Amino acid sequence: MNIQDDFEQLKNLTLKKIKEKVKDIVAQLPTNEQKVITYSKNFTISLSNYCQNFCGYCFYNFRIPKLDGQSNVILLGNEQMQTLIQMGIRYNCKEALIMSGEKPDSFKEVKDELKKRDCSDFIEFVKDISNYLLDFNLLPHTNLGILTIDDLRLLKNYNASMGLMLESTSMDLFKKGGVHERSPGKIPTKRINHIKNAGKLKIPFTTGLLLGIGESLDDRIKDLFLIKEIHEAYGHIQEVIIQNFVNKPGIPYQPKKVINIKDILRIFGTAKIIFENEIAIQVPPNLISGYEIEFIEMGVNDFGGISPFSLDYINPEKIWPQIDELKNICEAKNYILQERLPIYDKYIQKNGFCPENIKKTIDNINY
Ligand code: SF4
Repeated sequence: MNIQDDFEQLKNLTLKKIKEKVKDIVAQLPTNEQKVITYSKNFTISLSNYCQNFCGYCFYNFRIPKLDGQSNVILLGNEQMQTLIQMGIRYNCKEALIMSGEKPDSFKEVKDELKKRDCSDFIEFVKDISNYLLDFNLLPHTNLGILTIDDLRLLKNYNASMGLMLESTSMDLFKKGGVHERSPGKIPTKRINHIKNAGKLKIPFTTGLLLGIGESLDDRIKDLFLIKEIHEAYGHIQEVIIQNFVNKPGIPYQPKKVINIKDILRIFGTAKIIFENEIAIQVPPNLISGYEIEFIEMGVNDFGGISPFSLDYINPEKIWPQIDELKNICEAKNYILQERLPIYDKYIQKNGFCPENIKKTIDNINY
């Protein structure tokens, strides 16, 4: 059967049929792995919300007025960074998620701040922070938007894993009024190239889809096949996040109807059928509160990074569920919530995927 046949078949499956197929796929795992749902205990270091893009659904961008009078971050101050690191240590986090708007140093304000801190450029700044975090046995996972292959090469040696959402390759999103109309960094070829470059460099990688931003069902399924094709070429994609758009006041994109739960469940199940047990399927649990078990039954086996104290900067109104709360939900249905590192175990051993200094840090971590 070729991809086109698979595509047509998948598109026409009922939710009931998808669920049955997912069950058969999970049953192929060793018995002790079938009921395990993982998460990574993390905290976020948000470096700058200056961003070259202006996505219609984004609350993080410096152009959007902030809730509760929070101010925009040109470049995170040293003191705030130290506070976050100390909190991360106190809460026994293993992962530090480093994020920022895309190419923040394309703005003079950020460039000037970097200069004041004796940094030649933003990537050097991120490299230094990543290296510093390793000294505290914190494993960086960096997602800064589009980077060059040289940037990726430099950061690889200081990061346990890295990420970039594919989001959607639909060109409709670039039309007038589309969510990516003013986002040059969201041009699909650039993002595909970035994900492939990470593969060439053997970087354990996270990517994923953003649902409900103006794409069609066909677009979603095509993008899942695209991720599978890239993974087959490079073998580096450890997890695929499937995230749903959440409406918020103040953002430009205000759809008449937001994506419904059935459509979201369909894509989780479809992703599981496409990726089988090779790539983890992740849902951020703060975005689907109340549907955890339904998602697990559709193939989700990872809740991603859960922070005991920092906000979800993209969806700040969505409080992270407490880890104990999620544990109880899982246990009530005989699932086991298990902590993992930002680099999946199979990539620690996989040839060329885990630099020696990251391995050394992992050896120091007790988890
Ligand atoms: S979603 Fe990301 S890339 Fe888009 S405007 Fe917001 S920070 Fe920038």
